[in-house]
Amino acid sequence: MHKKLFIPGPVEVSQDVLEKMAMPMIGHRSKEASELQRRISDNLRKLFYTKNEILLSTSSGTGLMEGAVRCGTLKRAAIFSVGAFGDRWYSIAESNNVPADKFEFPMGEAVDPKVVDDVLKTGKYDLITVTHNETSTGVMNPIEEIAQVVKKYPDVIFCVDTVSSAAGVKIEVDKLGIDICITSSQKCLALPPGLSICTFSEKARERAEKVKFRGTYLDLLALYKYIKKKDYQYPTTPSLSHMFALDYQLDKILNQEGLENRFKKHIEMAEIVRNWADKYFEVFADRNHLSNTLTTVKNTRGISVADLNKELGKRGFTISNGYGSLKEKTFRIAHMGDCTVNDVKELLQNINEILNLK
Ligand code: PMP
Repeated sequence: MHKKLFIPGPVEVSQDVLEKMAMPMIGHRSKEASELQRRISDNLRKLFYTKNEILLSTSSGTGLMEGAVRCGTLKRAAIFSVGAFGDRWYSIAESNNVPADKFEFPMGEAVDPKVVDDVLKTGKYDLITVTHNETSTGVMNPIEEIAQVVKKYPDVIFCVDTVSSAAGVKIEVDKLGIDICITSSQKCLALPPGLSICTFSEKARERAEKVKFRGTYLDLLALYKYIKKKDYQYPTTPSLSHMFALDYQLDKILNQEGLENRFKKHIEMAEIVRNWADKYFEVFADRNHLSNTLTTVKNTRGISVADLNKELGKRGFTISNGYGSLKEKTFRIAHMGDCTVNDVKELLQNINEILNLK
């Protein structure tokens, strides 16, 4: 039996979208491919509220995170981490020999914009990375306040991981002054995994021009230059199947559902899960900075998540245990993508029945 995914990615992909992945191939150097990829970029600009260029990569989100770190700094990167995916930025920098310092906040808490100001004030950094929605803890960082601070430092490239929020939460790239905003296909876009997407500002391009070792496959500047020169074709063979599905899904999100409706739906789903968690368990993350795309629940009843998932599996659902050091202490319910309010209610009803919660 298929188990509906309430894990924080990959998420459920609707059948009509899946079928687009099975469309016959086209030549990646054809006019058709240019048109497809140009249309996708135009629609992604709407999704990110930006005039900046869009870059696509046949890799998961981590791929473009790596590309961004490699091309974003001539000095040092300041990495603000509130969990596992913030830490990932740091390990990417370390393994690529990019000078970086990590500024950590306790699990469940958000980045304090005042600390960002203090760090950037030192003048040591010309790149900052922030995780918008930390999937390991269920914290959504105060990106507007952080953006206000970053705007005071025109030399700094502002890099934001919106892997588990873009297309579920409004992210106005131009208004926030984000230079590189990254996401993956398998979360709120509700597509199969395997494609990463980023916005790329003129400032990011100028910085990348000055950086010598940017790699090859994940060289954002090379992607940028190629699509400009070759009318939205990519330097290597892209996953055209993903492109077909993305093109179709963007049309559905923008023109059928509507972005504002999608954002509202995510808020509604989050409120339902938080209220449920408050009633029977406890919400893990800081109340003022809760994610709208997943809820991390403190396992105050000491239930076995493995046993719960076994029972849920028989009923056609699956949820996620906690991440890393939070594995035993928490569990996570994702409410992202094409998931509906009714889907969430149905899941919670089934958990209540299994655990005998009244
Ligand atoms: N950042 C965040 C916030 C994530 O949730 C994830 C995936 N769980 C990643 C980065 C890594 O993305 P990917 O698995 O697509 O490489």
